[in-house]
Amino acid sequence: MDTKHGIPASPGIAIGQALVLDTEGVRIPRRHVPVEHVADEIVRLGAAIDRATEDARKRQKEFTIRLGKSIGQMFASHALFLSDPAMRYDIEMLIKAEDYSAEYAVSRHIRSRVNSLEDEGNEIATRLRQDFIDVERQLLHQLQGNSPSLLESGCDGSIVIARDLTPSETALFNKEKVIAFATESGGPTSHTAIMAGALNIPAVVGIGRLLSDVSGGDTVIIDGDEGVIIIDPDEATILKYEELLRNRENLGDQYEVLKDAEPITKDGTMIRLFGNIEFPNEAIACLEKGATGVGLYRTEFLYLNSTQDPTEEEHYAAYCEVLRVLGPNQPVVIRTLDLGADKFSPATSNPIHERNPFLGLRSVRLCLQNRPLFKTQLRAILRASVLGDLRIMFPMVSTVLELRQCVSLLREVEEDLAEAGIDYKPNVPVGTMIEVPSAALMADVLAKQVKFFSIGTNDLVQYTLAADRNNETVANLYSPVDPAVLRLIHRVADVGHRQGIEVNVCGEMSGEPLYTALLLGLGIRQLSATPRKIPELKHVIRNLTIPETERVANDVLRMETAREVTSYLRGHLRRFLPSVVD
Ligand code: PEP
Ligand code: MG
Repeated sequence: MDTKHGIPASPGIAIGQALVLDTEGVRIPRRHVPVEHVADEIVRLGAAIDRATEDARKRQKEFTIRLGKSIGQMFASHALFLSDPAMRYDIEMLIKAEDYSAEYAVSRHIRSRVNSLEDEGNEIATRLRQDFIDVERQLLHQLQGNSPSLLESGCDGSIVIARDLTPSETALFNKEKVIAFATESGGPTSHTAIMAGALNIPAVVGIGRLLSDVSGGDTVIIDGDEGVIIIDPDEATILKYEELLRNRENLGDQYEVLKDAEPITKDGTMIRLFGNIEFPNEAIACLEKGATGVGLYRTEFLYLNSTQDPTEEEHYAAYCEVLRVLGPNQPVVIRTLDLGADKFSPATSNPIHERNPFLGLRSVRLCLQNRPLFKTQLRAILRASVLGDLRIMFPMVSTVLELRQCVSLLREVEEDLAEAGIDYKPNVPVGTMIEVPSAALMADVLAKQVKFFSIGTNDLVQYTLAADRNNETVANLYSPVDPAVLRLIHRVADVGHRQGIEVNVCGEMSGEPLYTALLLGLGIRQLSATPRKIPELKHVIRNLTIPETERVANDVLRMETAREVTSYLRGHLRRFLPSVVD
C-alpha cells in the first residue's frame, strides 16, 4: 500500500482500477485472457519482441550514421534488453501463470524492474530506468498498434492515472466508465480540474511522481476531498473508504433538502446563485441543484471533443438546448470562446508555438484576430437570444479597447442579422469577465460599456500573483484569498455598487463555502458555481447575516498574508457551521 498526497481538485471518493496513461498516451490495462488464448498471447509477445528488436537495430545503424556512435549506442542497448532471453522467459511466465494479456505482462515485468532500480539514485540507475521505460513503450507500441483509445472505450470503474491531462483528453472520457483521475502535475483550478467538476468525478492533481508506481489494473483509492491517492490499499483501508463513501452520500442528501430553499441571509438579503456549465446537458443539473440561472456557460468546450470547428448551427443548437431547459425567465450567461492557453481542440490547435500561452493568443485576443470564428459564434448567440433571458459575456478582457472592439463586432453582427431579416433580441445585456488585474484596475471605465461584471478568480489569481494555475510547484502561491487578490475583488465590487452594475463571482472560489462570508462582506450578491455546490452554498448563506459578513471582510482586509486569511476564515466557519468545515 502506497499513499501519496496531491492537490484536491474535485471532491469525492472513488475506489477502482488504475488505467494508466503514460506520457505518450500508451494505455496499460490489467487484462486477463481466456486460458485457451494464452498460447496466442505468447506468440504475439514473441512477434512483438522480434519486431521491436529489429527496429532498435535499424535505429542504431541510422542514428550512428546521423548523430554519432554514442547516440547509436542507446538503441544498441535497447536491442540488447529486447533480445535478452531471460526477459522474454519472465514475461512468458507471467502470461502462463496469471493468464495476463501480453501488454499487461510486459508492463508489469518492466515496471517491476524499473522500481527495483528506484532507490539507487545514481546516474547509471537513472539511465537504466529510462531505457527500460523506453523498451516498454516500444513493445506496447508493437503489441497495440492503433487499437482504439481506452479513454473512449474504457472499462467499468476506471481511475485514470496520467502525467497530465488536457481538457480535450478529459472530454474524451467515457463518463460511464471513468470514475476518477489523478495526475502528476496540475493545479486546483486548471481547466482539467474544472472538467472533473463538470463530470462530477473526484480528482487529485499535482501529486508528483506517480506513473512509475502504478500499474494498469492496480486497485486505487482517490480521495478528492483531501487530495490523497492510495495505491494497492489493504483490506482495512478499503473498508474505511467504503464507509466514508457512504457517509458522504448521506451528507449530500442532507444538503439536497436545501436545494429548493431560498439563498437568503438570516437578515433577509437575497443572494443570487447561478450554475457554471461546460456542456449543454449540464443545464438540467443547475435546476436540479436549485440554481436560478446559468452564470457562466464555457462555450469553448463545444470545441474540445470535436475534430472540426462547430458550425453556426451547432453553436445555435447548443445554446437553444440550454435556454429551453432554463425557460424564459432564468438568465443564461453565454461566455464567448475562451480558446487558447490550455484549451485547444484538434481543429483549432495553435499554429504558433507560444512560449507563454496563458499570456498569449487566448480568448478574446484570439477571437478578435479570427473574426469569422468570432462572428459565427456571435450570430448563433444572437439568434438564440429570442428564446429566453440570454446575456453575452466576453472573457479575458485586458484593455478597454479590446472590450470596445468586442462590442462593436457584436453590433456589426446584429446589423447583418437585421439586414438578412433574421430574428434576434435587441439590447441583449453585455458583460465582461474581470479576470486580469488590468481589468480590475480599469473597472470604473469598463463599467461604462457593460451591464455586468463577472469576476473570474481562477485567472485573476494566476495573473495577479504570477502563479500558473496549472503548475503544482507554485500552488503554494496560488490563493484566492491573497490580500492582493482581495483588494482587486473589493475594488470591482465597489465600482459595481457605485456605478450600478451587477457583479458576479464565477471562479472556483465562489463554490467554496469557506469564502462565502468574505465575498458577501466584500459586497458580492451573486455567485456562480459548479451546480453540485449550490445546496451547500445555500446552507451557508442561510446562516449568515450581512453585518456579520461585513465584520469578516473588515477583519480580513487588514490582514497581510493568504495564510492568515485562510486560518481566520476557517476559524470563523468552524464557530458558526462546524459541520461544513469538518
Ligand atoms: C476564471 O478564470 O475564474 C473563470 C471562471 O474562467 P475559466 O476558469 O474558464 O478560465
Ligand atoms: Mg478564466
